[in-house]
Amino acid sequence: FEYAPAPESPAAAGDIATSYGHFIGGEFVDSSGSEALKTVNPATEQVLAEFAQGTEEDVDRAVAAARKAFTDWSALPGSERAKYLFRIARIIQERSRELAVLESIDNGKPIRETRDVDLPLVAAHFFYYAGWADKLDFAGYGSNPRPLGVAGQVIPWNFPLLMLAWKIAPALATGNTVVLKPAETTPLTALRFAEICRQAGLPKGVVNIVTGDGRTGAALTSHPDVNKVAFTGSTPVGRAIAKQLAGTRKKLSLELGGKAANIVFDDAPIDQAVEGIVNGIFFNQGHVCCAGSRLLVQESVQDEVLDALKRRMDSLRVGDPLDKNTDIGAINSAAQLARITELTAAGEAEGAERWSPACELPGAGFWFKPTLFTGVSQAHRIAREEIFGPVLSVLTFRTPAEAVEKANNTPYGLSAGVWTEKGSRILWMANQLKAGVVWANTFNKFDPTSPFGGYKESGYGREGGRHGLEAYLDV
Ligand code: NAD
Repeated sequence: FEYAPAPESPAAAGDIATSYGHFIGGEFVDSSGSEALKTVNPATEQVLAEFAQGTEEDVDRAVAAARKAFTDWSALPGSERAKYLFRIARIIQERSRELAVLESIDNGKPIRETRDVDLPLVAAHFFYYAGWADKLDFAGYGSNPRPLGVAGQVIPWNFPLLMLAWKIAPALATGNTVVLKPAETTPLTALRFAEICRQAGLPKGVVNIVTGDGRTGAALTSHPDVNKVAFTGSTPVGRAIAKQLAGTRKKLSLELGGKAANIVFDDAPIDQAVEGIVNGIFFNQGHVCCAGSRLLVQESVQDEVLDALKRRMDSLRVGDPLDKNTDIGAINSAAQLARITELTAAGEAEGAERWSPACELPGAGFWFKPTLFTGVSQAHRIAREEIFGPVLSVLTFRTPAEAVEKANNTPYGLSAGVWTEKGSRILWMANQLKAGVVWANTFNKFDPTSPFGGYKESGYGREGGRHGLEAYLDV
């Protein structure tokens, strides 16, 4: 397939415009309003760019463009839609260095993660759903399943481009058109993705990007001509959207918060488990909905695990997200840093014991040391509330039944991890844990072929895998 070559942009940093409008009907356009927001580099606090605060009128224009595009896009044979998705996937691979740098600058996450995790997964999602576009009749939904229409999609800041891919790839594969609103602290890669849609020759209006804060998000999710709302973000906002949509005929899927238990039994390979604990809570600064934020360790190996964990935490490098050796980058925003600071102070006030390695933090920017709390009780706020930062709460258990009871003692149900040599125990635990994802002897592993999503207050609907198609089809 032919597509336009990438613009000259090897160093994404130098390529950022001073201000951005929206991407509507295949064009970059100004907002109808005059309010602009700023996005900053969280590692330096330098302003990267201004972008538009989307008005109701902007959202209206974007929904109208998506509606107009829907007629032709939904009528295309799946094999034709697939060609566009394959093109997008290939362009993402070709421009992955540029996108990884831009994501790290706007979000604060280490380049090693954007380069080796986020970007490969973004491309993989487009490849995977491209493969489904001409096979929907074989997906087990009966013959000729239909797209829903215009999808209004709202995403958070922790995996900006990956959350975009989770939303846009299945929507397009199934013949829907999209208006997506990125988070207000990380709009830049979504706007760069708009360029990629143009480069791929995607028909105008199939993908529209409207930037802004929660007001723009609410204008989109409540828009009367949106048929499907897909939201990833916090549980309170998800709940508000569910209330707002009650009584409408819009379909809704919600991917919300979590408070996952990472459960280590005494027969687990301890060194491997410690790597999994570190990855579970310090990956992406702990800004991960499925982060293993509660470590449940069997009492008999508690000392051994904690000693090894502290030694490993001593070696973690916190700092410049663009340094390839950095393990923990910057906290995404001052507001998120304040929340982490407040909850960790509550942990101390409630009597838990706090420990962090003696690492230096950079001066400017938003930073938080990797932090461990022991002596945590189930009633403590740090054991109950989502901190969304590099903070681990350690609890202990004696029996598998006690581990299950403690792991499930949360309003959330997104994910869990189990570390043990016993296969039978893994299966038993996986059945007992009320979590949408259970990892065995690993953690934070993602794959486009696997459905991902929560139980209880972690939301409903699934993204990824064959199940991810369901959210965008009438079957
Ligand atoms: P948030 O709910 O504050 O914001 C998420 C998005 O919703 C942003 O784009 C925001 O502008 C928009 N928004 C805010 N108010 C809105 C409203 N009233 N109507 C419509 N849109 C609105 O969450 P956040 O702080 O950006 O993200 C962190 C949260 O996201 C955490 O709770 C995390 O667990 C969750 N998350 C969940 C998953 C998952 O797959 N389950 C993945 C990533 C993040």
